[in-house]
Amino acid sequence: MAGAELEPVIGLEIHVQLRTATKMFCGCALGFGEPPNTRTCPVCLGLPGALPVANAEAIHYGLMIGMALESTLAPVSTFHRKNYFYPDLPKGYQISQFDLPLCSGGVLGDVNIHRVHLEEDAAKLNHAGVSGRIEGAESSIVDFNRGGTPLAEIVTEPELRSAEQAGEWLRLLRTTLRTLGVSDVNMEEGSLRCDANISLRPVGTNELGTKTELKNMNSFRFIERGIRAEVERQRALIDAGESVTQETLHFDPKTESITSLRSKEEAHDYRYFPEPDLPPIVITDAMLARASEALPELPAARERRYVDQLSLSADSARLFAWRAELADFFDAVCDSDATLDPQVAANWVTELQGRLVDEEPQDSKVTPASLAQLAALVASSTVNQGGAKQVLEQMLANGGEPAEIVAAEGLEAVGGADELAPVVAAALEANPELTERLRGGDMKPIGVIVGEVMKQTRGRADGKEVTALVREQLGLS
Ligand SMILES: [Zn+2]
Repeated sequence: MAGAELEPVIGLEIHVQLRTATKMFCGCALGFGEPPNTRTCPVCLGLPGALPVANAEAIHYGLMIGMALESTLAPVSTFHRKNYFYPDLPKGYQISQFDLPLCSGGVLGDVNIHRVHLEEDAAKLNHAGVSGRIEGAESSIVDFNRGGTPLAEIVTEPELRSAEQAGEWLRLLRTTLRTLGVSDVNMEEGSLRCDANISLRPVGTNELGTKTELKNMNSFRFIERGIRAEVERQRALIDAGESVTQETLHFDPKTESITSLRSKEEAHDYRYFPEPDLPPIVITDAMLARASEALPELPAARERRYVDQLSLSADSARLFAWRAELADFFDAVCDSDATLDPQVAANWVTELQGRLVDEEPQDSKVTPASLAQLAALVASSTVNQGGAKQVLEQMLANGGEPAEIVAAEGLEAVGGADELAPVVAAALEANPELTERLRGGDMKPIGVIVGEVMKQTRGRADGKEVTALVREQLGLS
């Protein structure tokens, strides 16, 4: 394979905690931020004789997710036991789904979905370091509050081709789940967690290379950086004539390093078998009708509406629809000034977003109303594009009203022949050689003259207006 051009093949597995009132198989309330081990019962602690009951609301949310992803919904699906030992799993098995998942197939954006199934979350292990209980021994503390929280696991086909595409698609999925209202989708708190399967293959071939799995990444930035680092690691191995080993990996965002968690030889044999304590889930017409009625406007529909009703460019419509925070901010900008051209509002939201690193516009010092005011100041030629961008920088740093910033910083546009004509005349006079060339029809030096005028007006003139004045003063049509 060495020498051939290689392309990454990436599939994602996403675990989503569902925002139900109670756990997946018992009546315990979900415990986020509660004192440890206060949201437990014999069922979620796996005590002998306790019997699970499937949470109808979690199944309802699962159906909504399946509908939003255009999956095929199984008329009958079953729960299986996935057997393995770990201290965060009191039963010695996790109740999950195996050969009959709730949803199969589907598509979101430009990526096909393999399946969606329901399962329960494990408890949370807190590695406490050396404790006083056992002299010198490292200890971990188990909080069973999280154990049994309903999860939907969403698995994509291996169709993503870059870290950036994976990050962008994941934002679309997060927006979709957030819009459905089925989860908090808070990545830092772990209610949306992502694993990535990564392999490389020569461009133009269909066979899959040996894959590795990057586990449990909990921010968009880490996911993109982790995938990028793993793609580069595999590329270096293949370029050096070595082979990739199938293994599970951990990406440390602090050191940008990738370490092995376990190799294929250590992989679990889960010995799935049907959960004998739970009957199959039989989906009725009433359940389908309820899920379908609960569906809100999804990103694809929002994207269409932005193009059809607001005449947004395809790029703006997609950027916003795929990221609900941007779309909500854009809607708020439009709402605060109905006279604003939606595309102009969209451009300013994009301008703002480009200046934010990991933040959403809602968390910045710029409010939708102030961004609408800034756009209006540009529309009325009170300030030009360059000046407005300086105002935006100020708003980001300190907040405040754009009109006040324009006045305080003296950023009002220099416009109209009265103000601008003498500046243009002076610039021509100061550059007699260039002026001669322009007069002779060689328009190349016009940029220098415009630049000179911009310098004299500290960027407050309008480039097009300056160009027009130069032509006028030189008698060029
Ligand atoms: Zn419980």
